[in-house]
Amino acid sequence: KVRVRFAPSPTGGLHLGGVRTVLFNYLFAKQHGGDFILRIEDTDQTRFVPGAEAYILNTLNWCGLTPDESPVHGGPFVPYRQSERKASYRAYAEELVKNGYAYYAFDTTEELEQMRAQFKTAENPSPQYNQHIRTKMRNSLTLDAATVAQLLKEGIPHVIRIKMPEQETVHFTDMIRGEVSFHTSQVDDKVLLKADGMPTYHLAVVVDDYLMQISHAFRGEEWLPSAPVHLLLWKYLGWEAQMPQWAHLPLILKPEGNGKLSKRDGDRLGFPVFAMDWTDPKSNELTIGFKERGFLPEAFVNLLAMLGWNDGTDQEIFSLDELVQKFSIERVHKAGAKFDYEKAKWFNHEWIKRTEARRLLPAVKEILAADRMMVTDDTLLEKIINLVKERCTLLTDFTQQASFFFALPAEMDTAAVKPKWDDKKNLFFTELIRSFQLSTLWEAAGLETTFKELAAANQLKPGELMLPLRIMLVGGKYGPGVFDIAAILGKEETIRRITHTLS
Ligand code: GLU
Repeated sequence: KVRVRFAPSPTGGLHLGGVRTVLFNYLFAKQHGGDFILRIEDTDQTRFVPGAEAYILNTLNWCGLTPDESPVHGGPFVPYRQSERKASYRAYAEELVKNGYAYYAFDTTEELEQMRAQFKTAENPSPQYNQHIRTKMRNSLTLDAATVAQLLKEGIPHVIRIKMPEQETVHFTDMIRGEVSFHTSQVDDKVLLKADGMPTYHLAVVVDDYLMQISHAFRGEEWLPSAPVHLLLWKYLGWEAQMPQWAHLPLILKPEGNGKLSKRDGDRLGFPVFAMDWTDPKSNELTIGFKERGFLPEAFVNLLAMLGWNDGTDQEIFSLDELVQKFSIERVHKAGAKFDYEKAKWFNHEWIKRTEARRLLPAVKEILAADRMMVTDDTLLEKIINLVKERCTLLTDFTQQASFFFALPAEMDTAAVKPKWDDKKNLFFTELIRSFQLSTLWEAAGLETTFKELAAANQLKPGELMLPLRIMLVGGKYGPGVFDIAAILGKEETIRRITHTLS
């Protein structure tokens, strides 16, 4: 059975790349009738950030990428938080030591610092604990068996490190990158079990992928350098036959294409990189998310899918269901995908246009409420949404495009009409009020006819009168057709606004 996992460390907000990893895992699982598991990798307590796990769950929820198994959904392999599985890892680390694939290291923090200072060179500013250095340190490979036994008996703090083979090539077939190989001399002796008994990521990820029967693992390309450690652990633990198939997803690049997209690029260029608002609990700094910036989850998912994948045709708009059908890991590109915020907004605009007003209603209501406009008439609001949604790129654009239906315009762009204003026009609008008062059928086409007939009678061009009417009704040069606006505002309110500006 296909079983995939998203295994984030709860260290902060979830950015574009993280959610795209979720999406590709999810699509692959669903198209194979498999399970999508969320496992929280929280064994590094120094990097743990409160609130991050809840944030991840909220984001998955918002995107509609609900896990089948997770710390909150439960499942056959509970618990799904690694910190709660702490007791299960030591035995595997000990087994590796017993079989000669790992060793105890008793070096203190001071000794490690000293080692780094001693072996530091210009080409190698941060020397790693590796096959050359391990021979000069205090570990079960250099100390005699009696000393090791004594140290362990006394409970002297120690870690367990993997013993990287000296001259071996480790290789595997990546579903995206094809054949990938590493030389073990380039890899250091990673810690597997820490002094406090917590496993490191490397040990925990392998043990849990095994225990949770993961069949395929999609993760960011930044994890590729860790792959040789994981491959060897699968082998050393005797589980090679069950090892998942790996796919390392290409990076999402800065708009300029030079390197990985980061939060700083968003700050620099004014676009979101996090899925939802994230407030860093340490600095209290708020980073705006795609949701709050006014993106629809459908658009967010769609744009993420297109960062590194396409179906081989020109089609760009895909619903989640369609992605589940059409996604193919073989069509994921090897090269990084440049992030383009204008294109991201284009997706959102397309999705706003395509989404039924009824479904946009809750979000638009919330946006108007944030501007202190409490709308209770859903039927009316739906009508308005239908009228203006073509003009909205972000959901937040509904504030400008719709708020004037519910309140007098806050500002009047009188400068736009003043220079060409004269008594003739003034007279026209006074007469327009009278004609509007007399009209019995209040709908857009009829209002337009009345307006045009009156203009002709006054020997004025209707084109010159439209802008003033628009400014009177909405305050600026925006909004849908001016007679559509008047029709929705109603007779009383339309006349009130015209009168208000004339006096
Ligand atoms: N815990 C890792 C992370 O924070 C998971 C990497 C993997 O999927 O193996 O992304």
